[in-house]
Amino acid sequence: VKRTKDNNGELTRSLAARGFRATAQREQVYRVLLQHRDHPTAEQVFLRVKRRLPDISMATVYNCLDTLVQAGLVRQVQVDRAATRYCPNMTPHGHFHCVECGQVFDIPCGLQDAQAPFRLPRGFKVQSCEVSIQGRCPACADKARSQRSTPA
Ligand SMILES: [Zn+2]
Ligand SMILES: [Zn+2]
Repeated sequence: VKRTKDNNGELTRSLAARGFRATAQREQVYRVLLQHRDHPTAEQVFLRVKRRLPDISMATVYNCLDTLVQAGLVRQVQVDRAATRYCPNMTPHGHFHCVECGQVFDIPCGLQDAQAPFRLPRGFKVQSCEVSIQGRCPACADKARSQRSTPA
């Protein structure tokens, strides 16, 4: 598939630009993140990568994730006080965290510049901006609505 090929090229280039080599472990960790864009935790990534690389350790997975973050291919996401999650979508977007099912959805911010929604006081310089929204996803909102309308 063309898309996969492009991603591999991008991976090698982005890693090389930061002085990292594209190892088999880094490649598999990145592939796992691209395959299921459900914002997995490091532990979930570990379990998925282990199916392809049975000998990989948790420490190696953490190292790979760190490298991918430093190379600008993956970003860390904090939606609640639970473990850090990982997202391979590097276009500006916020995250919607469903309080019922726990899923994390990408919400496009519709702006090129993520700092635009905030009017910063003079002198402040933005380095990064994280937008995290809590609520119910459409499926959970529907469920809550139908439960309310059904007489007990
Ligand atoms: Zn939900
Ligand atoms: Zn995301």
